[in-house]
Amino acid sequence: MELEPSRVADVAGLEVRRSLPRRGRRTVGAWCFADHFGPTPPQDDVMVAVGPHPHTGLHTVTWLLEGTERHTDSLGSDQLIRPGQLNLMTAGHGIAHAEQSPPDHRGSTHGVQLWVAQPEHTRHGPPAFEHHPELPEVTIGRSRATLLVGALLGSVSPARAETPLLGAQLELIAGRTEVPLDPGFEHALVALDGAVEVEDRTAATMVRVEPDVLVHLGPGSDRVVIGAPSTASAARPVRVLLLGGEPFEEQVLMWWNFVLRTRDEALDAVRDWNEDVGRFGPVDSRLARIPSPVPPWAPGVRG
Ligand code: MN
Repeated sequence: MELEPSRVADVAGLEVRRSLPRRGRRTVGAWCFADHFGPTPPQDDVMVAVGPHPHTGLHTVTWLLEGTERHTDSLGSDQLIRPGQLNLMTAGHGIAHAEQSPPDHRGSTHGVQLWVAQPEHTRHGPPAFEHHPELPEVTIGRSRATLLVGALLGSVSPARAETPLLGAQLELIAGRTEVPLDPGFEHALVALDGAVEVEDRTAATMVRVEPDVLVHLGPGSDRVVIGAPSTASAARPVRVLLLGGEPFEEQVLMWWNFVLRTRDEALDAVRDWNEDVGRFGPVDSRLARIPSPVPPWAPGVRG
Protein backbone atom coordinates (compact mmCIF):
# COMPACT_ATOMS: atom_id res chain seq x y z
CA MET A 1 0.00 0.00 0.00
CA GLU A 2 1.46 3.36 -1.06
CA LEU A 3 0.28 6.88 -0.19
CA GLU A 4 0.82 9.61 -2.76
CA PRO A 5 -0.31 13.23 -2.19
CA SER A 6 -1.99 15.09 -5.04
CA ARG A 7 -0.37 18.12 -6.58
CA VAL A 8 -2.22 21.40 -6.98
CA ALA A 9 -2.87 22.53 -10.54
CA ASP A 10 -4.96 25.19 -12.24
CA VAL A 11 -7.66 24.45 -14.81
CA ALA A 12 -9.12 27.63 -16.34
CA GLY A 13 -8.64 29.50 -13.06
CA LEU A 14 -10.09 26.72 -10.90
CA GLU A 15 -7.76 25.07 -8.39
CA VAL A 16 -7.67 21.29 -8.75
CA ARG A 17 -5.89 18.56 -6.81
CA ARG A 18 -4.38 16.10 -9.32
CA SER A 19 -3.75 12.60 -8.01
CA LEU A 20 -3.05 11.13 -11.48
CA PRO A 21 -0.76 11.18 -13.33
CA ARG A 22 2.19 11.55 -10.95
CA ARG A 23 5.88 11.07 -11.61
CA GLY A 24 5.90 7.65 -10.02
CA ARG A 25 2.46 6.56 -11.18
CA ARG A 26 1.09 7.14 -14.65
CA THR A 27 -1.97 4.90 -14.51
CA VAL A 28 -4.21 2.86 -12.20
CA GLY A 29 -5.78 0.30 -14.49
CA ALA A 30 -6.51 2.41 -17.56
CA TRP A 31 -7.31 5.47 -15.39
CA CYS A 32 -4.68 8.01 -16.40
CA PHE A 33 -5.90 11.32 -15.01
CA ALA A 34 -7.78 12.31 -11.86
CA ASP A 35 -8.59 15.90 -10.87
CA HIS A 36 -10.63 16.83 -7.81
CA PHE A 37 -11.98 20.39 -7.68
CA GLY A 38 -13.84 22.24 -4.93
CA PRO A 39 -15.91 22.41 -2.91
CA THR A 40 -15.61 26.12 -3.63
CA PRO A 41 -17.04 28.52 -0.99
CA PRO A 42 -20.81 28.74 -1.67
CA GLN A 43 -20.82 32.54 -1.33
CA ASP A 44 -18.21 32.89 -4.11
CA ASP A 45 -20.45 31.39 -6.83
CA VAL A 46 -17.32 30.10 -8.61
CA MET A 47 -18.08 29.24 -12.24
CA VAL A 48 -16.50 26.49 -14.33
CA ALA A 49 -15.54 27.92 -17.72
CA VAL A 50 -13.34 25.63 -19.83
CA GLY A 51 -13.46 26.73 -23.46
CA PRO A 52 -13.35 24.47 -26.52
CA HIS A 53 -10.40 22.07 -26.43
CA PRO A 54 -9.66 18.72 -28.07
CA HIS A 55 -9.00 15.19 -26.86
CA THR A 56 -7.68 12.00 -28.44
CA GLY A 57 -7.31 8.41 -27.26
CA LEU A 58 -9.23 8.68 -23.99
CA HIS A 59 -12.60 8.76 -22.27
CA THR A 60 -13.42 11.74 -20.06
CA VAL A 61 -15.54 10.80 -17.05
CA THR A 62 -17.25 13.74 -15.33
CA TRP A 63 -18.78 13.33 -11.88
CA LEU A 64 -20.16 16.18 -9.79
CA LEU A 65 -20.71 16.25 -6.03
CA GLU A 66 -22.23 19.76 -6.07
CA GLY A 67 -23.26 22.25 -8.75
CA THR A 68 -24.17 21.76 -12.38
CA GLU A 69 -22.19 21.89 -15.64
CA ARG A 70 -23.12 22.22 -19.28
CA HIS A 71 -21.21 20.02 -21.72
CA THR A 72 -21.15 20.80 -25.45
CA ASP A 73 -19.06 18.91 -27.99
CA SER A 74 -18.23 18.62 -31.67
CA LEU A 75 -20.75 15.78 -32.08
CA GLY A 76 -23.50 18.31 -31.31
CA SER A 77 -24.11 17.07 -27.77
CA ASP A 78 -25.50 19.66 -25.36
CA GLN A 79 -25.94 18.14 -21.92
CA LEU A 80 -26.47 19.50 -18.44
CA ILE A 81 -25.01 17.29 -15.74
CA ARG A 82 -26.03 17.25 -12.07
CA PRO A 83 -24.69 15.45 -9.00
CA GLY A 84 -25.39 11.71 -9.20
CA GLN A 85 -25.16 11.70 -13.00
CA LEU A 86 -22.30 10.69 -15.25
CA ASN A 87 -20.98 12.14 -18.50
CA LEU A 88 -18.68 9.83 -20.42
CA MET A 89 -17.09 11.15 -23.61
CA THR A 90 -15.06 8.95 -25.92
CA ALA A 91 -12.40 10.82 -27.89
CA GLY A 92 -11.06 8.09 -30.18
CA HIS A 93 -9.32 9.75 -33.14
CA GLY A 94 -10.55 13.17 -32.05
CA ILE A 95 -13.29 15.21 -30.41
CA ALA A 96 -13.56 18.74 -29.00
CA HIS A 97 -15.73 19.96 -26.14
CA ALA A 98 -16.39 22.80 -23.69
CA GLU A 99 -17.57 22.69 -20.10
CA GLN A 100 -19.10 25.58 -18.21
CA SER A 101 -21.42 26.40 -15.36
CA PRO A 102 -24.86 27.52 -16.54
CA PRO A 103 -25.34 31.32 -16.38
CA ASP A 104 -27.69 31.04 -13.38
CA HIS A 105 -25.15 29.01 -11.37
CA ARG A 106 -25.08 29.86 -7.66
CA GLY A 107 -23.31 28.22 -4.77
CA SER A 108 -20.55 25.67 -4.54
CA THR A 109 -18.80 23.74 -7.31
CA HIS A 110 -17.40 20.32 -6.39
CA GLY A 111 -16.51 17.39 -8.60
CA VAL A 112 -14.01 15.10 -10.22
CA GLN A 113 -12.73 14.91 -13.78
CA LEU A 114 -11.24 11.57 -14.74
CA TRP A 115 -9.67 10.22 -17.90
CA VAL A 116 -9.40 6.62 -19.05
CA ALA A 117 -6.77 5.68 -21.64
CA GLN A 118 -8.28 3.86 -24.62
CA PRO A 119 -6.55 0.65 -25.68
CA GLU A 120 -4.86 0.28 -29.07
CA HIS A 121 -7.86 -1.45 -30.68
CA THR A 122 -10.27 1.44 -29.99
CA ARG A 123 -8.17 4.58 -29.68
CA HIS A 124 -8.27 5.38 -33.41
CA GLY A 125 -12.05 4.87 -33.55
CA PRO A 126 -14.94 7.33 -33.79
CA PRO A 127 -15.79 9.75 -30.97
CA ALA A 128 -18.94 9.30 -28.87
CA PHE A 129 -20.77 10.84 -25.93
CA GLU A 130 -23.05 9.27 -23.35
CA HIS A 131 -24.97 10.71 -20.39
CA HIS A 132 -26.23 8.48 -17.60
CA PRO A 133 -28.95 10.22 -15.56
CA GLU A 134 -29.04 7.37 -13.05
CA LEU A 135 -26.40 4.96 -11.83
CA PRO A 136 -26.58 1.75 -9.78
CA GLU A 137 -26.32 2.16 -6.01
CA VAL A 138 -25.00 -0.74 -4.00
CA THR A 139 -25.06 -1.48 -0.28
CA ILE A 140 -21.75 -2.39 1.38
CA GLY A 141 -22.37 -3.35 4.99
CA ARG A 142 -24.03 -0.27 6.50
CA SER A 143 -22.45 2.05 3.88
CA ARG A 144 -23.30 2.54 0.23
CA ALA A 145 -21.58 3.14 -3.09
CA THR A 146 -22.58 4.67 -6.41
CA LEU A 147 -21.18 2.73 -9.33
CA LEU A 148 -19.74 4.96 -12.07
CA VAL A 149 -17.99 2.39 -14.26
CA GLY A 150 -17.62 -1.39 -14.08
CA ALA A 151 -19.15 -3.84 -11.60
CA LEU A 152 -19.36 -4.08 -7.83
CA LEU A 153 -21.29 -6.59 -5.68
CA GLY A 154 -23.38 -7.82 -8.57
CA SER A 155 -24.34 -4.39 -9.97
CA VAL A 156 -23.03 -3.23 -13.32
CA SER A 157 -22.74 0.37 -14.52
CA PRO A 158 -24.19 1.13 -17.97
CA ALA A 159 -21.15 3.33 -18.75
CA ARG A 160 -18.80 2.27 -21.53
CA ALA A 161 -15.59 0.50 -20.54
CA GLU A 162 -13.15 -0.87 -23.12
CA THR A 163 -10.79 -2.49 -20.61
CA PRO A 164 -11.60 -4.19 -17.26
CA LEU A 165 -12.27 -1.15 -15.07
CA LEU A 166 -13.93 0.00 -11.85
CA GLY A 167 -14.99 3.48 -10.77
CA ALA A 168 -17.18 4.03 -7.72
CA GLN A 169 -17.98 6.67 -5.14
CA LEU A 170 -18.04 5.10 -1.69
CA GLU A 171 -20.41 6.82 0.73
CA LEU A 172 -19.13 5.72 4.12
CA ILE A 173 -20.78 6.01 7.50
CA ALA A 174 -19.03 5.85 10.88
CA GLY A 175 -17.04 2.71 11.64
CA ARG A 176 -15.32 0.24 9.37
CA THR A 177 -16.53 -0.82 5.94
CA GLU A 178 -15.08 -3.80 4.12
CA VAL A 179 -15.13 -3.24 0.35
CA PRO A 180 -14.64 -6.33 -1.82
CA LEU A 181 -12.02 -5.95 -4.56
CA ASP A 182 -11.16 -7.86 -7.74
CA PRO A 183 -7.73 -9.36 -7.00
CA GLY A 184 -6.86 -9.11 -10.69
CA PHE A 185 -7.13 -5.30 -10.49
CA GLU A 186 -4.90 -2.65 -8.98
CA HIS A 187 -6.86 0.03 -7.08
CA ALA A 188 -6.68 3.60 -5.87
CA LEU A 189 -8.64 5.35 -3.14
CA VAL A 190 -8.97 9.14 -2.85
CA ALA A 191 -10.96 10.65 0.03
CA LEU A 192 -13.07 13.56 -1.22
CA ASP A 193 -14.71 14.98 1.93
CA GLY A 194 -12.53 14.30 4.94
CA ALA A 195 -9.85 12.02 6.34
CA VAL A 196 -10.46 8.26 6.57
CA GLU A 197 -8.46 5.28 7.80
CA VAL A 198 -7.37 2.51 5.45
CA GLU A 199 -6.17 -0.89 6.60
CA ASP A 200 -2.59 -1.68 5.66
CA ARG A 201 -2.84 -5.46 5.62
CA THR A 202 0.89 -6.17 5.53
CA ALA A 203 1.44 -4.01 8.65
CA ALA A 204 -1.95 -5.02 10.15
CA THR A 205 -2.69 -1.40 11.08
CA MET A 206 -5.18 1.30 10.15
CA VAL A 207 -3.43 4.23 8.44
CA ARG A 208 -4.88 7.75 8.53
CA VAL A 209 -5.40 9.11 5.01
CA GLU A 210 -6.07 12.80 4.40
CA PRO A 211 -8.29 14.01 1.52
CA ASP A 212 -6.58 14.08 -1.89
CA VAL A 213 -3.95 11.54 -0.91
CA LEU A 214 -4.04 8.66 -3.39
CA VAL A 215 -3.84 5.24 -1.72
CA HIS A 216 -2.52 2.68 -4.19
CA LEU A 217 -3.24 -1.01 -3.70
CA GLY A 218 -1.43 -3.38 -6.02
CA PRO A 219 -3.07 -6.44 -7.57
CA GLY A 220 -3.78 -9.35 -5.27
CA SER A 221 -6.08 -7.68 -2.75
CA ASP A 222 -9.57 -9.18 -2.46
CA ARG A 223 -10.84 -6.47 -0.08
CA VAL A 224 -9.97 -3.21 1.58
CA VAL A 225 -11.15 -2.07 5.01
CA ILE A 226 -11.85 1.66 5.33
CA GLY A 227 -12.71 3.45 8.56
CA ALA A 228 -14.86 6.60 8.57
CA PRO A 229 -15.01 9.07 11.50
CA SER A 230 -17.85 9.03 14.05
CA THR A 231 -19.37 12.14 12.44
CA ALA A 232 -20.05 10.29 9.16
CA SER A 233 -23.76 9.45 8.86
CA ALA A 234 -26.11 8.24 6.15
CA ALA A 235 -27.19 11.88 5.69
CA ARG A 236 -23.57 13.14 5.67
CA PRO A 237 -21.32 10.27 4.62
CA VAL A 238 -17.60 10.60 3.92
CA ARG A 239 -17.18 10.14 0.19
CA VAL A 240 -14.21 8.24 -1.21
CA LEU A 241 -13.39 7.72 -4.87
CA LEU A 242 -12.47 4.12 -5.68
CA LEU A 243 -10.72 3.50 -9.01
CA GLY A 244 -9.45 0.17 -10.28
CA GLY A 245 -8.62 -1.90 -13.28
CA GLU A 246 -6.35 -4.48 -14.79
CA PRO A 247 -2.86 -2.94 -14.93
CA PHE A 248 -2.68 -1.09 -18.27
CA GLU A 249 0.30 -2.55 -20.10
CA GLU A 250 0.40 -0.17 -23.06
CA GLN A 251 2.93 2.64 -22.70
CA VAL A 252 0.95 5.87 -22.98
CA LEU A 253 2.26 9.31 -23.80
CA MET A 254 0.21 12.23 -22.50
CA TRP A 255 0.67 15.68 -23.98
CA TRP A 256 -1.81 18.37 -22.85
CA ASN A 257 -5.30 16.91 -23.55
CA PHE A 258 -4.05 14.11 -25.78
CA VAL A 259 -3.38 10.49 -24.85
CA LEU A 260 -1.09 8.95 -27.46
CA ARG A 261 1.75 6.52 -27.94
CA THR A 262 4.44 8.47 -29.81
CA ARG A 263 5.86 11.99 -30.00
CA ASP A 264 4.99 12.14 -33.70
CA GLU A 265 1.33 11.45 -32.88
CA ALA A 266 1.46 14.32 -30.40
CA LEU A 267 2.88 16.69 -33.03
CA ASP A 268 0.09 15.67 -35.43
CA ALA A 269 -2.64 16.25 -32.82
CA VAL A 270 -1.22 19.65 -31.78
CA ARG A 271 -0.96 20.77 -35.40
CA ASP A 272 -4.43 19.47 -36.33
CA TRP A 273 -6.01 21.39 -33.42
CA ASN A 274 -4.00 24.61 -33.69
CA GLU A 275 -4.43 24.81 -37.48
CA ASP A 276 -8.10 23.73 -37.16
CA VAL A 277 -7.95 21.33 -40.10
CA GLY A 278 -11.29 19.71 -39.26
CA ARG A 279 -10.13 16.67 -37.32
CA PHE A 280 -11.88 17.83 -34.13
CA GLY A 281 -14.85 19.85 -35.36
CA PRO A 282 -16.55 22.97 -33.99
CA VAL A 283 -18.07 23.31 -30.50
CA ASP A 284 -21.08 25.42 -29.55
CA SER A 285 -19.60 27.71 -26.88
CA ARG A 286 -19.14 31.43 -26.31
CA LEU A 287 -15.84 30.73 -24.60
CA ALA A 288 -12.55 31.17 -26.43
CA ARG A 289 -10.96 28.15 -28.09
CA ILE A 290 -7.90 27.03 -26.09
CA PRO A 291 -4.74 26.62 -28.21
CA SER A 292 -2.48 23.64 -27.60
CA PRO A 293 0.98 24.25 -26.21
CA VAL A 294 3.67 23.03 -28.60
CA PRO A 295 5.83 20.20 -27.21
CA PRO A 296 9.56 20.77 -26.70
CA TRP A 297 10.33 17.99 -29.21
CA ALA A 298 8.63 19.87 -32.07
CA PRO A 299 11.06 20.88 -34.84
CA GLY A 300 12.46 24.34 -34.18
CA VAL A 301 11.48 24.38 -30.49
CA ARG A 302 14.26 24.35 -27.94
CA GLY A 303 13.50 21.86 -25.19
MN1 MN B 1 -11.79 18.11 -21.60
